[in-house]
Amino acid sequence: MSINARAAAGSAPATVLRVAAVLADPAAGRLDGPAEIRLEHGRIAALTPLGNGLPEDASEVQPLIALPAPANAHDHGRGLRSAAFGAHDEALETWLAGLAREPLVDPWLRAAVAFGRMVEGGAGIANHCHNTQRGDRLLQEAQGVAKAAADVGLRIAFALPFAGRNAVVYGELDRLLQRVPPGDHDALRAMRAGGRSLAENLALMEQAAAFEHAGFQLQYCPVGPQWVDNATLAAIARGSADSGRRVHMHLLETRYQREWADAHYADGLIAHLDAIGLLSPRLTVAHAVWLTPAECELLAERGVIVAANASSNLRLRSGIAPVRAFRASGLRFGIGMDGMSLDDDDDLLREMRLLRQLNRGTAGEPDFDAGALFTAACVDGRRSVLGDDGGGRIAVGAPADLLLLDSRRFSRDCLAPGRDQWLALMLTRMRAEDIAALYIGGRAVAVGGRACGVDLPALEAELTALARAARALAPPDESRIGRLRAGVEDYYRAGCHGP
Ligand SMILES: [Zn+2]
Repeated sequence: MSINARAAAGSAPATVLRVAAVLADPAAGRLDGPAEIRLEHGRIAALTPLGNGLPEDASEVQPLIALPAPANAHDHGRGLRSAAFGAHDEALETWLAGLAREPLVDPWLRAAVAFGRMVEGGAGIANHCHNTQRGDRLLQEAQGVAKAAADVGLRIAFALPFAGRNAVVYGELDRLLQRVPPGDHDALRAMRAGGRSLAENLALMEQAAAFEHAGFQLQYCPVGPQWVDNATLAAIARGSADSGRRVHMHLLETRYQREWADAHYADGLIAHLDAIGLLSPRLTVAHAVWLTPAECELLAERGVIVAANASSNLRLRSGIAPVRAFRASGLRFGIGMDGMSLDDDDDLLREMRLLRQLNRGTAGEPDFDAGALFTAACVDGRRSVLGDDGGGRIAVGAPADLLLLDSRRFSRDCLAPGRDQWLALMLTRMRAEDIAALYIGGRAVAVGGRACGVDLPALEAELTALARAARALAPPDESRIGRLRAGVEDYYRAGCHGP
């Protein structure tokens, strides 16, 4: 059997689920009553209401709530968390220097562990913004990620990285070299010179397309405007328009990125991206912490989707994204974890609650209701990864991508527990341990808190052992990382990225 056939949405046998409540249309922000949901050939084949209460003979039925599977709209699929290899939370620009500590490991194992954690945390759909471990082996890495997605059973978009400038800092490398000892200069110059050309990357896109299957599709990933030359950005805009392939790009994540952009684009970075045709309904931008309200309006008009990453932005000191401005302008957004969830546990349900609580405003302003939250997580986040595929709802004919939550833990102390309380309780309390099951394409990919396609505890143990062995063989050069961190910090403090 090929990967294609295994991951194909129709391969699972028919399944009948009996649930106590259904969030059929996330935007409605309403739980409908008990229902039977039949999954067949990867789709929802029937949705039958069971009346106003659970049937008498169903007393053993768990009080389950079915909702469309949420999406993790931005991530990197690092099986080994950055805190595990010693890149602890700090401002993004110096944190990036610490990523050099990640040991080289098997690409399949690295992604399988990350994806296993994601499905246990409630994400059935995910963006995988690929961080290459070995630039000369990108194709093998993509193949490993494609297999991991099929083995775990989630749907991912593999965003293939394009760069082209400013590999080390935003702006002139020479001004950084003045701030680090001469012995480090050659290595930093090599980082600038290294990297694949645009033509090489476009050829790799063609080759990697051979790995595509129902759970793995390719996207262009111009890593971020400060790291990608203008010719490459323009070529990707054209390529996306011609092929229909989506584009995923970091955008205005930090204050320094905003200052760099303002100093380098006289008419504005966003206006430049618009002029070259990059702003389109095919574009997802990650973070967007430093967008202005006027820029939100333009992005909304162009149909761009944001992947908001509340935990990551807190941990890397990037700020709090202007989600209220997103909502006011009609700019759609999904919710991502960026491999940096608050407790490093990839709990997408907690991440949803955190993003909402950070962006509710104060009394007198419109609240952030359940409809808006589940639209972000289940509809627009999904669209940012997969495009319009008919998913994000529980209806006959939609893909059988469902999350089942068990309401017992979060309602156990309620004096009048019942369905009318559940949605409000989910906004306050839901977390990964409430997940009864996650179905993707009709296949159970997580049940009772455990990934089904892989033995995650065993893979995690294997990955940690391999990474420790790799680190023992080639330990990170801590003093060099320390010198680079200090140089980078001074570079930005001195305003070298600015005018
Ligand atoms: Zn990221």
